[in-house]
Amino acid sequence: MSDSYDVVIIGSGPAGATYARTIGDAVPGARILMVEVGPAIPGGRGEHTQNLTEPERIAAQLLTQGPEAGIERAKALAGIADGFDPSLEFRQTILPGLFFLDPRPQLGPGEAGLSAASMSSGVGGMGIHWGTSTPRPQQSERIPFLPAAELDTALTHAERLLRVSTWATPGAGLGEAIRRELVAEFDGPGLAPIGFMPLAIQWQDGRPHFSGTGTILGDLERTAPGFELRAETLAQRVIVDGGRATGVVLQDRRTEEVTEVRAAHVVVCADGLRTPQVLFASGVRPTALGHYLNEHFQVGAFGFLNDAFDPARFEPTPGRIGYVHVPFSDERPMQGGVIPLAGSPYRLGLELDDAAASRLVAIPWYGAKEIQFSDRVEFSESETDSYGMPKMIIRYSHTERDRETIEQLKQNAARSAARIGVLGEPPELAAGGSSLHYQGTVRMGAVNDGTSVCDQYLRVWDVPNLYVGGNGVIPTATAANPTLTTVALAWRAARTLAAELRHVT
Ligand SMILES: Cc1cc2nc3c(=O)[nH]c(=O)nc-3n(C[C@H](O)[C@H](O)[C@H](O)COP(=O)(O)OP(=O)(O)OC[C@H]3O[C@@H](n4cnc5c(N)ncnc54)[C@H](O)[C@@H]3O)c2cc1C
Repeated sequence: MSDSYDVVIIGSGPAGATYARTIGDAVPGARILMVEVGPAIPGGRGEHTQNLTEPERIAAQLLTQGPEAGIERAKALAGIADGFDPSLEFRQTILPGLFFLDPRPQLGPGEAGLSAASMSSGVGGMGIHWGTSTPRPQQSERIPFLPAAELDTALTHAERLLRVSTWATPGAGLGEAIRRELVAEFDGPGLAPIGFMPLAIQWQDGRPHFSGTGTILGDLERTAPGFELRAETLAQRVIVDGGRATGVVLQDRRTEEVTEVRAAHVVVCADGLRTPQVLFASGVRPTALGHYLNEHFQVGAFGFLNDAFDPARFEPTPGRIGYVHVPFSDERPMQGGVIPLAGSPYRLGLELDDAAASRLVAIPWYGAKEIQFSDRVEFSESETDSYGMPKMIIRYSHTERDRETIEQLKQNAARSAARIGVLGEPPELAAGGSSLHYQGTVRMGAVNDGTSVCDQYLRVWDVPNLYVGGNGVIPTATAANPTLTTVALAWRAARTLAAELRHVT
């Protein structure tokens, strides 16, 4: 096994996979090592858990829960529930396949915290569990210093990599009937048009196939034989020598053996919280590192369709999910929607057999957070997490504008329900962190002025050969689900890196 690589990529989620695939396609002879702290999962590398058999899916979820691997989420929570502040209300976000950053978060005065902040550790990252919603960023969600046409090209490429399906407007069936109601309620001048949520799902033989991280990687081991994916391998730190990234210190999680590998380029794609953690551990600590942390607010509600929208009255629309999507607009900085759950291809673990359940709809509304320098993930110099990495503490608070946004989100969820039926229960703000979209912690910037960590090609300022990727690079306040943008930005960066490699080899 070689101990010298052209590129070492830390993290095997969608961001890392985009770098690997793009570099491998551009330079098939490149020696690319991808390391992943979590284990390989059953059913194929990077396969989406929704495509697996039930036993495989459950096994994959249990394996990827980091320190809680092997423990059912409800049981894991029971273990920590004793003594935790019930007002934190993070019970609602017990998702299998994830583990909490801090099971017993301590809030400082005036802080809202991100008590449900979670991560996933396994080959494919969160990209084997994700919901596949892939809206394009709209208006001020877009990165202002990127040329619009370039960003659009990158988003188009990301849609191809993720195999995103889009649906024409107007649609058909129940979905179209709901869309028309939401248009009547929420459309207006200057607002992005209301349509259907693009999803990284393809229909094969009448069944949905969800794009996982493996979809991005494609057949890379064959097309770029120098690509190697090493699971259960922790990147403890990037080696920075003479101000440049020159390698990585790795720990084999099974034997605890620590080795060093040399690398011409190092790419850190270890998620929105752990990417800054790896940089911190490596002594790369620009002022903005971990700061400007923001995730969109999430108000979740369930509703029941009234008689006019009884699914039985509509022609079925096989191959369409009918997730009606109200996109973000500057005039209304939030994204909303209605998802009819009857006949849903998502395996939700809900019993939807009886007549009432067939009328069930999910009504998710997400709102953009006002970005503040003070919202941050901090790293301890002395304490460590379960992997032995610097312990993370979240410092996060809501502004006056944030509180208004949250109220509007609740109202919009209620207005959505009233158009088509009734609310199941009053809309509630989900516990902070439950969006799973942590942005800004290694944000990109147009200039190196202390308010960003990397440049527009995701190169860490002042540390040649060091790149980052993932939701943490997104600098704007967004409500859209970020993975499409993250893949687009990683593709752009990886092309730059590949061009450097081609120049050298
Ligand atoms: C249930 C669920 C639903 C979701 N739905 C959507 C959706 O509909 N739309 C959307 O846009 N997004 C969604 N997401 C979020 C989406 O999955 C993430 O945005 C995406 O996976 C981020 O990709 P990433 O590569 O940056 O990070 P991740 O996918 O988190 O991958 C990072 C990887 O790095 C590894 N790692 C961390 N530290 C180290 C280290 N020191 N050494 C080695 N490896 C390390 C981690 O173990 C992890 O596997 C969802 C997520 C979940 C869990």
